[in-house]
Amino acid sequence: MMKGDLLIPSLIERAEKFFPKKEVISRTGSGVQRFTYGEIGRRTRQLADKLTQFGIPRGGRVGTLAWNHHRHLELYFALPGIGAVVHTINIRLSPEHIVYIINHAEDEMIFVDEDVFPLVEAVYDKLKTVKAFVVMTDGELPDTKVPNVYSYEEWIKDGDPSFQYPDDLTEDMPAGMCFTSATTGNPKGVVYTHRSTVLHSMGLSMADSVALSEYDTIMPVVPMFHVNAWGMPYASTMLGTNQVMPGPRFTPEILAGFIESEKVTITAGVPTIWMALLKELEAKSYDVSSLRAVVCGGSAAPMGMIKTFEQTYNVPFLHAYGMTETSPLATVSRLKSYELDLPEEERFKKRAKQGILVPGLEMKVVGGGGEVAWNDEDMGELLLRGPWIADDYYKDDRGEEAFVDGWLHTGDVCTVDEEGVIKIVDRTKDLIKSGGEWISSVDLENALMAHEAVFEASVVSIPDPEWQERPVACVVLHEGKMSTKEEILDFLRPQFAKWWLPDDVIFMEEIPKTSVGKFLKRALRDQVKAHYEKQ
Ligand code: ADP
Repeated sequence: MMKGDLLIPSLIERAEKFFPKKEVISRTGSGVQRFTYGEIGRRTRQLADKLTQFGIPRGGRVGTLAWNHHRHLELYFALPGIGAVVHTINIRLSPEHIVYIINHAEDEMIFVDEDVFPLVEAVYDKLKTVKAFVVMTDGELPDTKVPNVYSYEEWIKDGDPSFQYPDDLTEDMPAGMCFTSATTGNPKGVVYTHRSTVLHSMGLSMADSVALSEYDTIMPVVPMFHVNAWGMPYASTMLGTNQVMPGPRFTPEILAGFIESEKVTITAGVPTIWMALLKELEAKSYDVSSLRAVVCGGSAAPMGMIKTFEQTYNVPFLHAYGMTETSPLATVSRLKSYELDLPEEERFKKRAKQGILVPGLEMKVVGGGGEVAWNDEDMGELLLRGPWIADDYYKDDRGEEAFVDGWLHTGDVCTVDEEGVIKIVDRTKDLIKSGGEWISSVDLENALMAHEAVFEASVVSIPDPEWQERPVACVVLHEGKMSTKEEILDFLRPQFAKWWLPDDVIFMEEIPKTSVGKFLKRALRDQVKAHYEKQ
């Protein structure tokens, strides 16, 4: 067989050649704009030419501080297209972490959204390697004291629209870079290659995984600064799928509006986004009948949410699991063909698990005594390997703990059932150890969120002199709903062993979240501690 390198430029060249009429619908600061893949292809070549003229070297990193829009998509292709690396930076991290990330990656340039530019103004003098900033604006450049600032449209204008991507790129060259949002210490960098990105795109497209297709209209709500919007922009461009980019500071109303007006068929994001969308759908009526999958990952999808989407709105839900280190797609939760006739409750229960491994990857679940039995009970850490799983962190000693003997140690504890379906029980560090036994905070959270008065719930441990640790539930109620500690505990009682029941229920206005909308347990533990100290 021929040995063909798997290269990112081939994805956009395919869209240009076979799907030049298909569209990218992009919401920017000034409104919604529509581009064809023909136009995006030409603009990307202009950008690639300008980056080459500017002197971005092979392997050089260029940072982006941007929302989901067409210009960000052009950078996704132009940078790998000239052999450079698109380094997507999470705009919601602290300024200290952003400075660390940019200096650690030694970014040559930064492309930044107009509304994120104040962040650059606050830290630019701490950036050691950045030679220029390009502001992605539809209008005038901001008046600023930051040196070497260009406007994107002006900058690419004299780039050559027939620029040819170099023909000596190889598939193992670095192409993308994303730092994990650190819960402790500095963020850790993961580098994606051309090969890993193309194979991951194929992984997303398989019928038994997300089944992305040219027939779809996709709206990635998960940010392009977070694990490449789960790889959706690469896979969609490869297939010629219409893409709806929801842009800066979108609201549930904007998302619901796009689903209705653009007839979105697939959308992808974390559970907190879907909770907010459900609230919007409840408050106002929208036509969401075009949706054939709401893809949900990043945190466990509560079963109640899956049911609401499917039973109230007739919208199919697809639960998936992965992490920055896994590009991210690792498992997808679909029923097997012979499980379709199971009782309804059992079907929902299965689909709230994280699912089975996508083809191309391998897994092991290792507990105290080696690999655990597939009995839905024994817990162990999930280990993964495969062609889109990272094998190290970028210039970071911490890789030694996570990447051992060719396997990624995910830090996620799970069980496996007899069908090979994994269920994430917790992150190793969030499991609650009570009297020598483990309690899963995730299981308790999911049960709590199924209570009709509960909007959000998170469970953390408090130190206990007798049991070592005990669970405490932090609960946010739906507006206008009432409940009490006793009532909530009574609701949990039939579902759990007695010693799993939280010792307390604290009602809160809001649960602190990470930059990508997950519960921030570290901050929550501090709040709980303060709550008890006040008493
Ligand atoms: P971070 O930068 O916060 O680590 P990631 O997106 O890489 O961001 O987070 C990956 C982690 O998120 C996983 O290791 C796992 O703990 C959690 N996670 C992702 N998807 C799911 C899911 N479907 N169910 C439960 N946990 C999930």
